[in-house]
Amino acid sequence: QTKRLYSPNQIKDILERHGFNFSKALGQNFLIDGNIVRKISIAAGVDKNTNVLEIGPGVGTLTEELALNAKRVVAVEMDERLKPILEETLSGFENIKVIFSDVLKLDLKEIIEREFDGERISVVANLPYYVTTPILEMLFENDLPIDLITVMVQKEVALRMTAKPGSKDYSSLSIFIRFYSEPKIEFKVPNTVFMPKPKVDSAVVKMELNKKYDVNRELFFKIVKAAFSKRRKTIINALSSYEDLNVQKDDIRELLTLADIDENRRAEDLSIEEYLNLTKLLDMSLK
Ligand code: SAM
Repeated sequence: QTKRLYSPNQIKDILERHGFNFSKALGQNFLIDGNIVRKISIAAGVDKNTNVLEIGPGVGTLTEELALNAKRVVAVEMDERLKPILEETLSGFENIKVIFSDVLKLDLKEIIEREFDGERISVVANLPYYVTTPILEMLFENDLPIDLITVMVQKEVALRMTAKPGSKDYSSLSIFIRFYSEPKIEFKVPNTVFMPKPKVDSAVVKMELNKKYDVNRELFFKIVKAAFSKRRKTIINALSSYEDLNVQKDDIRELLTLADIDENRRAEDLSIEEYLNLTKLLDMSLK
């Protein structure tokens, strides 16, 4: 099979023939550039051994490219109005299945087990931007058999996802992503390759899920949240004034000393290892 969906006119024609109106609420900005679609598949390293889960296939532009290169593609699309369109654009492919559902409401563990015979998978998507974080949380937090996540996101979000300590983009999102993976921006994408054109530029981020930290996850993210809730305060003040953490200032001071962290530093200067260390010490003192 060869690629059939690659030009803006073709995609416009299909949408018009089906009388399709874009839904802004569903984050529908469809890719209309065959080169970008190819670059995403290459960045994700998709080959005949790869099982791909795609989120939000839209018209199927990326889905088609993935199916040409992958072993099997399962795509989850929330908008049922795309059913007749996808039946047309993805006709003839034996290795594609589209599931019409809100991906956040699916039991992905069960779907992966059933659709990919329990084999490990790679997630590839041009994400709907309004639910980028909830989707990433769902993919990371459920111990799913995922090796790699390659997603297009808003450029500003990509910068936060991959930021290092001390930079202005470093945030709780940077720590969340790095807790579970090794992230890297593969390439930036101008807003001109989408229909309709979004206001913002985008970037493709690849995340390798190769990490396993042996730590109380809930407490770790509570500490990170507490630290970044008062970004400009010193770490001692941010942590001791966060009610949900409920630890006295003197105890925080002791923990910081034990972790060899100057209490006057700020959330944005602490590395993930320092947050991990703090978590372990606090966890021990609570037991
Ligand atoms: N992959 C296509 C492309 O690159 O042209 C479309 C990408 S578009 C940015 C996002 C897609 O995700 C849309 O088709 C939208 O309907 C779908 N979508 C939005 N929210 C969703 C959800 N919660 N679950 C599954 N799909 C969703």
